[in-house]
Amino acid sequence: MTTLDEKLEPILTQVLQRNAGEPEFHQAVREVFESLGRVVAKHPDYLQDGLFERICEPERQIIFRVPWTDDKGQVHINRGFRVQFNSALGPYKGGIRFHPSVNLGIIKFLGFEQTFKNALTGMPIGGGKGGSDFNPRGRSDGEIMRFCQSFMTELHRHIGEYTDVPAGDIGVGGREIGYMFGQYKRLTNRYEAGVLTGKGLAYGGSRARKEATGYGATYFVQHMLGRKGTSFEGKRTVVSGSGNVAIYTIEKVHSFGGKVIACSDSSGYVVDEAGIDLELLKDVKEVRRARISDYAKARGKSATYVEGGCIWDVPCDVAMPSATQNELTGKDAQTLVKNGVIAVGEGANMPSTPDAVRVFQQAGVSFAPGKAANAGGVATSALEMQQNASRDSWTFDETEQRLSDIMRNIHDACADTAEMYGAPGDYVLGANITGFVRVADAMRALGVV
Ligand code: GLU
Repeated sequence: MTTLDEKLEPILTQVLQRNAGEPEFHQAVREVFESLGRVVAKHPDYLQDGLFERICEPERQIIFRVPWTDDKGQVHINRGFRVQFNSALGPYKGGIRFHPSVNLGIIKFLGFEQTFKNALTGMPIGGGKGGSDFNPRGRSDGEIMRFCQSFMTELHRHIGEYTDVPAGDIGVGGREIGYMFGQYKRLTNRYEAGVLTGKGLAYGGSRARKEATGYGATYFVQHMLGRKGTSFEGKRTVVSGSGNVAIYTIEKVHSFGGKVIACSDSSGYVVDEAGIDLELLKDVKEVRRARISDYAKARGKSATYVEGGCIWDVPCDVAMPSATQNELTGKDAQTLVKNGVIAVGEGANMPSTPDAVRVFQQAGVSFAPGKAANAGGVATSALEMQQNASRDSWTFDETEQRLSDIMRNIHDACADTAEMYGAPGDYVLGANITGFVRVADAMRALGVV
């Protein structure tokens, strides 16, 4: 386990003071700083020119009003955010999240993580994140459209193919990206396909983008298991969540011969000893936009729904938290370890608390942090940008092959870096150092900006 370097400590203290009341942002910065002591010891010149201070300060933060009218004619006001965190490696890139929990601190933590994640992909993309505290649950299609249009009416002036390229995240999928792209096109009078990613195939989207985050996380864990001399074959796997990341994680784990026996939503979880029926899950979640309890009802005998329960109580070999931040606590990690978990791969952004990560690492469980394991989504977004820039469109197989190569490269870079810095098997250290060095080297070359 790593502790904070004494030269980084005052910088962290200042970051925490300047960003009061943003616990998730503090958590994300602290975790990265804890990994960087060994880098500073080897290369003290990274401490020059306020580099660490600059890397923690977003280049630009935009907060705006989003008024919209519901189906009954009532006006609602939400808050919109876009944090343009770091553009040393390329235009800001990162998703938009619609969820009632969204606030500036959450978007900043996500933008900070995104900066290093995007660097890990090896693609020319900087880091950013956006969103709104809008709750899409129970809203009609018309309400969603009007909200997306209002959101984009302000956002459009801040984004662009060479400036900032948003995509989806929690609460924002193909439907929402379509409405936002439509409004962007209307306002700017430009068919600028590269301004958003996660688009539909009908208007400039990339094949395999929808599947990419879940597929990518599974590829990453497969490589990690490979280093342990094993694989997904026959492994009982638990995947939390039931959104886009979870669904395509389940699909890939099954294709690798593993068996996903549980998934969840914010109301509870379902255990299906026969293995999750993916066609049914897709129908419930992607078509009907219904609850995981409806999956259990439709599935019949093999499935049990546990209302309000904790999915990490389900014994498994591999755990893939794919719902949201801090969904897996130290106590949950202890339960998983007691039940014999051998590997954990984060499909969501920062789903494990720092306590949980400590428990896994001390128990010798292979642990893949989200900024490495879930980077396949944004990497495929960068592939979508490439296709848009060249006015081309690749086959599913070609795109997935590139994704698979990228995930292998990320895995190997993290593993090799951890080894080089004297902590073999520590993917947290490996990911943080690799991402940091790529961003930091570019920032130093660009001068104090
Ligand atoms: N929201 C996803 C992430 O956290 C995807 C971002 C993107 O494709 O730009 O990486």
